Amino acid sequence: MAPTVRFLGAAQNVTGSCYLVETNGSRVLVDCGMYQERELRSRNWDPFPVPPGTIDAIVLTHSHIDHSGLIPKLVRDGFKGRIFCTPATAEIAKIMLLDSAEVQEEDAAYKKRRHQREGRTGPYPEIPLYTRRDALDSYKLFEPSHYGLWTSVAPGIEAVLYDAGHVLGCAFVRLEVGTKGSRRSIVFSGDVGRFDKPVLADPSAPGPADYIVVESTYGDRLHNEARDLNAALVEVINSTVEKGGNLLIPSFALERTQDLIFRMKRLLAEKRIPEMMVFLDSPMAARITEVFEDHPEYLDEDVRELFSDGGSPFDFPGLVTVRNPETSKSINKIRGSVVIIAGAGMCTGGRIKHHLTTNISRPESTIMFVGYQAEGTLGRQILDGNPEVRVLGNMYPVRARIIALQGFSAHADRDELLRGGWPGFPRCRSGCSSLTESAPPERRSPKPCVSGSDGRWRSRRTVRARRWTEPSG
Ligand SMILES: [Zn+2]
Repeated sequence: MAPTVRFLGAAQNVTGSCYLVETNGSRVLVDCGMYQERELRSRNWDPFPVPPGTIDAIVLTHSHIDHSGLIPKLVRDGFKGRIFCTPATAEIAKIMLLDSAEVQEEDAAYKKRRHQREGRTGPYPEIPLYTRRDALDSYKLFEPSHYGLWTSVAPGIEAVLYDAGHVLGCAFVRLEVGTKGSRRSIVFSGDVGRFDKPVLADPSAPGPADYIVVESTYGDRLHNEARDLNAALVEVINSTVEKGGNLLIPSFALERTQDLIFRMKRLLAEKRIPEMMVFLDSPMAARITEVFEDHPEYLDEDVRELFSDGGSPFDFPGLVTVRNPETSKSINKIRGSVVIIAGAGMCTGGRIKHHLTTNISRPESTIMFVGYQAEGTLGRQILDGNPEVRVLGNMYPVRARIIALQGFSAHADRDELLRGGWPGFPRCRSGCSSLTESAPPERRSPKPCVSGSDGRWRSRRTVRARRWTEPSG
């Protein structure tokens, strides 16, 4: 039987990445992501399209929840296979899946209380999508494998991973599927990272393949970034210190936080910013930073060198990791200027909300966004210039300086996706590349974003089908 690939998510939208590869009775998933767009979240509750117990293995490109977040649900529903990924992805995924389970449990409990108070029932069950127990049950299935090593993941399906430069431990997944005659190579890009960025190595090159499935979150645009990101950061920090305010940075726990800390360490060493207290007020970001420190082999060469003196590239005088909520609350009693890096990155929850209540109405303070703010989030409301916003149940006038610093994106843009060296996308042998993680045409400008063997762009409309079967001819 010729290999088949089913696109089970991230088709006409940007989350829920999941592909089912089948050949001669073997079934392997590449990624098992959660839908995160508000209007699509109900899909997370759908039964899996095939019985989870019949899936032999998962190959995980990276740990972001939109690529890994439904693993605990799959395990609860009967999946017993192995989960192949790099050691760093395994460690970070475990942290993120447990956190995701906690959020699911807290959300369900909150909804139940609210519905009881209001005397009504909601459209969805007031139970968590999955629990901490389900997340912990998935831990034992992880089977770490380093870049460049072939692994047999199921009968007739072999996999090898290559660094994709997106987040620590991320991978392009190359599968060799089928037997002699019907054997095909398929590369799944996962999320594609950036070139010439600090901390992580550049994306590598898994070479040409028969078929390539590539993400295109920013495939129809170029990043509009600060020309000199470090200079912009210096200006924001120094001007805030001059005014005597605090700098709040709502940040994502993986990558963005480590990037910021590394840049600040450098700027401090170059004496471009003053010595001051910088609080990393996110337990999850702190744990993930430890994974970075445990895996220098995945970092950029110049970052690796910083380990040689016995120190860490993610530590500097004045950096304080906040472990408990009491210490977090006491930060705002400090007189003088401090930097506070806290989650959630879109201000949808976490400790940043508490810091916003004490800083958002202070004209001398700055709130600096370093990531995308989705529609409907508190971060987006602040960024859109709302004169007042609701935080933790109270309204606050927005008087702080609001800044969005562009340039921290971990996704390749159009030119970077096409840059020579990464996976030979325009040289796909079959001419049948496929696009993933793209929003539907009606929500995004209808620019072309699929490349074939001739290297020319085709309309994304050509890849609308959710199921692809190799032509028999
Ligand atoms: Zn990602």
